[in-house]
Amino acid sequence: MSGSILSRARADLLALAGYSSARMEASSGALWLNANESPWPSPVDAGQGLHRYPDPQPAGLRARFADWLGVPAENLLVGRGSDEAIDLLTRAFCRAGVDAVITSPPTFGMYQVSARIQGARVVEVPLDAANGFAWPLDGILSAIDETTKLVWVCTPNNPTGTTVPRDAILDLARGLEDRALVVVDEAYAEFGDAQSLAGEAAKPGNLAVLRTLSKAHALAGARVGCVVADASVIALLRRLMAPYPLPTPSVVAAEAALAPAALAITASRIALVRAERARMAGALAKIPGVREVLPSQANFLTVRLDDGPRTYETLLACGIVVRDVSRHPSLAGCLRITIGTPEENDRVRSALAERARAAA
Ligand code: PMP
Repeated sequence: MSGSILSRARADLLALAGYSSARMEASSGALWLNANESPWPSPVDAGQGLHRYPDPQPAGLRARFADWLGVPAENLLVGRGSDEAIDLLTRAFCRAGVDAVITSPPTFGMYQVSARIQGARVVEVPLDAANGFAWPLDGILSAIDETTKLVWVCTPNNPTGTTVPRDAILDLARGLEDRALVVVDEAYAEFGDAQSLAGEAAKPGNLAVLRTLSKAHALAGARVGCVVADASVIALLRRLMAPYPLPTPSVVAAEAALAPAALAITASRIALVRAERARMAGALAKIPGVREVLPSQANFLTVRLDDGPRTYETLLACGIVVRDVSRHPSLAGCLRITIGTPEENDRVRSALAERARAAA
């Protein structure tokens, strides 16, 4: 039933009016004396008007996101990166000590961290490591019960780089109807071949999509991302989020990043990352001691080595910082290496080749 996923949100929050900030109550006027701001710009203000609180949901930025993703603005909430969206969704749906989320490890750690902070249970249905880290649809279906509120789907997945078929996600969402919200984290979608599910998430129902400007759009430091979901879910999240979540400089940077000129540059960089990913995957696979390079649709390669943790130390000694992901049982010996510039990638390749030569 459309819109009824809201019936699975926390009942105590549905009744909460939320804080009414000065900027929400009035957004136009000539004389601004309603928010106890300074009437003068800060002496360090570079013309951005930082003496004023920002719009809680800047219309211009939402319109840019809406255009970019091809969804109505009412289905979209902008916030401080996907991390904030993960936290908000967890708080909105999960009652402490009662409800649960499903994650499929090895995957992004914040799904379970946010759940634990909220006091929700984390039910882990691992990816099928013996089968190319395939997404465990059947396992997820059998793990779902009346306490399940969120099912986290990360595609392309961090840290495996693998993807989840679009039709399987849509089947799961349809099968669950109004029982649980299926949240698809598309942080790395720009680097892959799959079509975004944002358009589907904007329809009434139980599918949500997270997007971020931290990866392909090169704005990790600005902290901007969005959630696309049923309009009723968006309205609830708006009531729960911080009064002024987005700093003005971040809004300005994000709007510019989603303008056509910046998107064109971003597209050419994405093409370069994809080409470098293919080049590096081929080159790394030939280095002795490299057992496997997982096929990746993201801007990183996860590489299984004879001795991952020691290789990590060797790279660190050369000043190269990668991520040791070997603590996941199915990723024993694995390092996750972000695709950098062609020169940076060559340095990684040379350092690994040099280590293999020294060990021979
Ligand atoms: N989702 C995934 C899968 C990630 O890997 C990351 C960052 N490592 C995030 C979300 C968080 O992104 P943001 O900077 O938008 O909070």
